[in-house]
Amino acid sequence: MNLNPVTQTSASRNWAVRSKTFISVLETSGPINHESDDKPHEECGIVGAYVPGESVARTAFFGLFALQHRGQESAGIATSEGDRIHLKAQMGLVSQVFREETLVGLPGHLGIGHTRYSTMGGSKAYNAQPLIANGQRGQIAVGHNGNVINAGALRVELAEEFGSNFERSSDTEVIAELFAKAPGSDWFEVSAYAMRRLKGAYSLVIMTKDKLIAVRDPLGIRPLCLGTLNGGWVVASETAALDNLGADFVRELENGETIVIDKTGLKSKIWSGARSTHAMCVFEQIYFARPDSILNGELAYETRQRLGAEVYREHPVDADIVIGIPDSSTPHAVGLAAAAKIPYAEAIIRNRYVGRTFIQPDQLSRAQGVQTKFNPMRGVIEGKRLLVVDDSIVRSTTITRVIKMLRRAGAKEVHVRVASPPIKSTCHFGVDMATLGELIAANKTVDEIREYIDADSLAYLSVEGLLKAVRAPANSYCTGCFTGNYPIPVQLEMNKLGFEPAPTG
Ligand code: SF4
Repeated sequence: MNLNPVTQTSASRNWAVRSKTFISVLETSGPINHESDDKPHEECGIVGAYVPGESVARTAFFGLFALQHRGQESAGIATSEGDRIHLKAQMGLVSQVFREETLVGLPGHLGIGHTRYSTMGGSKAYNAQPLIANGQRGQIAVGHNGNVINAGALRVELAEEFGSNFERSSDTEVIAELFAKAPGSDWFEVSAYAMRRLKGAYSLVIMTKDKLIAVRDPLGIRPLCLGTLNGGWVVASETAALDNLGADFVRELENGETIVIDKTGLKSKIWSGARSTHAMCVFEQIYFARPDSILNGELAYETRQRLGAEVYREHPVDADIVIGIPDSSTPHAVGLAAAAKIPYAEAIIRNRYVGRTFIQPDQLSRAQGVQTKFNPMRGVIEGKRLLVVDDSIVRSTTITRVIKMLRRAGAKEVHVRVASPPIKSTCHFGVDMATLGELIAANKTVDEIREYIDADSLAYLSVEGLLKAVRAPANSYCTGCFTGNYPIPVQLEMNKLGFEPAPTG
């Protein structure tokens, strides 16, 4: 595959400038950095803009800034003013990678952006997106949110069919190569060809030197939405990014939809093989997406309130106050408190400046991270029966530490309600869930977990309650990590570093 530069000379790497693409991909030194929390990690946020007469690098920057929660390992923007693609992609947060002078170096009215948390392929600079690929229609840049589960097989097939030479370790490289080399007289034919071959989750932004292309996979697993901005078009993973840009939300993309935007306007087609009901990741509703985003026509904040209300209806308990683990569980706790007619209180203050920690994500550091992040207020807690709401439990590190803190702060009783079902399986569609052995609900009964986390009572929302709260028609969400039933067959226990080159030396 004729990708970006191939020679790395130092820990801080400048990939050589190649042909008509101006590329700068740098790698920071030190270990892979992850947030030290105990939540599943979404892997990517994407944004694309086609706004004639404007410089869209800033649009992409602010769009990515609004999507930073979807990935914090690397960020990149590619732009074009119509004759060549400019790219900057680097390890780090959006605000670390891009400065005013960097954006000036990315000219053009057409651009895409990407912020990444690695699910397939390691946390390395060479996997930072957008990725560049070359084919008979010229050069393309690609940003991907999701996980392609047959990427391994496709690498072999594309090498045989097109002589593709893969130099990176992410499934996105396979997607980029497929779109670059696929036969087709227009981008709709190319996309249909790619959809026939790709299996899994992929919301994509793709650009040529003069076109913006957006694609949502035939199952609609990851979100993607369309808006208008100053006479042009914007696409983004979440509607909250459109809001932040001052764009007007038009609609969410359909399953299997391809949108092509160029100087002739916007054209759209839905692939004939797309599923009629979507299989969106239900975890987007529970936790991943911003609460101020609209998913499947519903505001995530209100959906989360219904999740909280539903778990209380299923498992009522007497308490003096309802508290949520901030910030992600706040809407669920507010909804539960209203349903229970128990006062909602802020009892735990979160240090808003705890972001990424520059330490390895092992169990000890996760535990330390919880202490750094939360401070319970004795004056609110002492002598009270607490009903603690958590949006989800993965390993249980956070909830265990929080309960210990609450007891130390004088709680009389601690009852825990989880506004989602027990996570019993891993994800194959772009979410880093931890391994099966680390998922507490895959290895203990609810009562064993209650004892382990030292709660007076513990209850989870049922799968039926979850689907009721998200107002889902039958089979219209992926619930794989709760039920083990995935929208398409998956190979259990995939390794996200499966394509990573073996270490040398
Ligand atoms: S398995 Fe879970 S996290 Fe993964 S896509 Fe399905 S619902 Fe989302």
